[in-house]
Amino acid sequence: MIEAKGYAAQSPTTDLAPWAFERREVGPHDVQFEILFCGVCHSDLHQIRNEWFPGIFPMVPGHEIVGRVTNVGSHVKKFKVGDLAGTGCLVDSCRECDSCKEGLEQYCENGAVGTYNSYEKDGKTPTYGGYSNTIVVHEDFVLHISPDLDLAAVAPLLCAGITTYSPLKHWKVGKGHKLGVLGLGGLGHMAVKFGVAFGAEVTVLSTSPKKEEDAKKLGAHKFVVTTDEEQVKGVKRYFDFILDTVSAEHDINMYLSLLKRDGTHICVGAPSEPSKIHAFSLLAGRKSLAGSGIGGLPETQEMLDYCAEHNIVSDIELIDIKDITASYERMQKGDVRYRFVIDMATL
Ligand code: NAP
Ligand code: ZN
Ligand code: ZN
Repeated sequence: MIEAKGYAAQSPTTDLAPWAFERREVGPHDVQFEILFCGVCHSDLHQIRNEWFPGIFPMVPGHEIVGRVTNVGSHVKKFKVGDLAGTGCLVDSCRECDSCKEGLEQYCENGAVGTYNSYEKDGKTPTYGGYSNTIVVHEDFVLHISPDLDLAAVAPLLCAGITTYSPLKHWKVGKGHKLGVLGLGGLGHMAVKFGVAFGAEVTVLSTSPKKEEDAKKLGAHKFVVTTDEEQVKGVKRYFDFILDTVSAEHDINMYLSLLKRDGTHICVGAPSEPSKIHAFSLLAGRKSLAGSGIGGLPETQEMLDYCAEHNIVSDIELIDIKDITASYERMQKGDVRYRFVIDMATL
């Protein structure tokens, strides 16, 4: 086994702290890479606190992982030692179901293997994420990273990037569309960048008036403070699409009223509590309520290549891993500009 070190939560009520653990030896199809940077996703916080479901502890979070290859198995064709590499939310899937065959591994009908808080396909070996120094992943679940971009700022593309890119592509959001991005955090700020790049008119819908200037810098055309009734009135029946990235309970009915006839509200944010939807919010105007989960491996590579070509990265605050708990506290208050990324050299 390979000795690894990282930060883990030992239970849902304890803070992250240093922890030594083991990773599997590099198999014939595995790539091992040194983790240089790992983004901090709100899903990390949801999971270490058991907000979604009872987690697997000790838990090493982190699924926005980038680094440099240190070892490859004998059959590995796609990577060599020294290459840049990345891994997102998935490290394996059944590879046989319709979704896997279509490159939509995130919807694997037999349950994809998450990068952490999950079990390998043997059903008993826990997976550990990117708040650590090294990782071993099957080459099919390792992504190529362009050397032309700032590596730390690429890390968040592996989750925040693909989670917003994928639905915008699926619903063909672009020129002539009015897109509302609900919540300006890690996912939200990437949604603004992609929405603008795809040619949509982008409006940020935010609870934080102080983010207006940043939103405009990110390329947003409009900014609406959702706690200001007058401003909200100005965008009634306005949007073709709303991409909802909010991490906490919020009234979706209110936002459905901002959609045009035939508009679509797409949930990517994953609050722990269910939402109450009034049928009238949907039937008046034939509206759709939809959702989207991360992205499959082919589309994640496509997104990374698109970002390299268009010079798109995340806006980040680089942190020392010792400050992870303080960063979670800031994230919970909506105070992230716009993604924390751990500099793994501080481990
Ligand atoms: P984040 O950086 O904390 O951003 C969330 C934003 O939501 C905040 O910045 C804030 O924006 C807004 N917000 C927070 N509480 C709110 C409230 N009570 N009412 C209205 N708005 C509120 O989080 P993130 O990393 O972007 O993740 C967002 C959500 O997506 C999380 O639930 C995460 O688990 C989920 N997620 C889902 C997927 C997927 O596959 N679908 C993938 C990754 C993450 P303003 O200050 O602008 O209001
Ligand atoms: Zn994530
Ligand atoms: Zn499958």
